[in-house]
Amino acid sequence: MTTPLLETRGVWQRFGGLIANSDVSISVGAGEIVGLIGPNGAGKSTLFNLIAGVLPPTQGTIWFNGENVTQMPAAERCQRGIARTFQVVKSFETMTVIDNVIVGALIRNEKMRDARRKAHEVLEFCGLAPRADKLARDLIPSEKRRLEVARALATEPKLLMLDECLTGLTPLEAQSGVALVRKVRETGVTVLMVEHVMEIVMPLVDRAIVLNLGKKLVEGKPADVVRHPEVISAYLGD
Ligand code: ADP
Ligand code: MG
Repeated sequence: MTTPLLETRGVWQRFGGLIANSDVSISVGAGEIVGLIGPNGAGKSTLFNLIAGVLPPTQGTIWFNGENVTQMPAAERCQRGIARTFQVVKSFETMTVIDNVIVGALIRNEKMRDARRKAHEVLEFCGLAPRADKLARDLIPSEKRRLEVARALATEPKLLMLDECLTGLTPLEAQSGVALVRKVRETGVTVLMVEHVMEIVMPLVDRAIVLNLGKKLVEGKPADVVRHPEVISAYLGD
């Protein structure tokens, strides 16, 4: 087996007495779309934070592209090719759409002219080109989600982590979000996505990993995972 692009080994995260991640080991291969699912409070966003470097794990190690990144600051992980969106949209509301994306593009481009060119290319890719000069705060919710994805893509990641980027969208908007994720993967970017709308995420992912109460419950092909009795009871108990 080839080395996975991303691996967490026995990762724990404690917040005082609360255990948000408990001995979580996952791996994501290059080119995969992996779904991270589980009920509210399962520890999905926490795991994203640990992988992105927002906080160091209480215990365990995180490996990216063969390198131990456990103690590496978030900005350096971004340089290595890890990008993520936030469950709560974090764009710069009073900046224009294009400027938001330029912020991401400046990570790979020293010259403003190059960053701007890259940002326009990414907006085009994300279907936001007509909104380039709007203020981020004037976008509708589905466009704000796309802007988050665009900002992340502008950093030219190897791994794109999406935290509920399809949640709260209309079915039509969610379908076009799904199409965008597929298009991202076609460019060679690996995708790890948190999503709890099963009907949307299951047809999209190659593999699903289920977290419940901070622990990995099951992982496997979507069709097998949804039939798993423990997954069914975790969701019904939600
Ligand atoms: P999910 O994304 O699966 O809904 P989270 O990772 O956001 O779950 O949260 C897992 C648990 O950790 C929850 O009980 C949440 O309240 C708690 N938690 C998350 N972040 C913090 C934090 N910074 N401080 C304290 N508790 C936290
Ligand atoms: Mg979450």
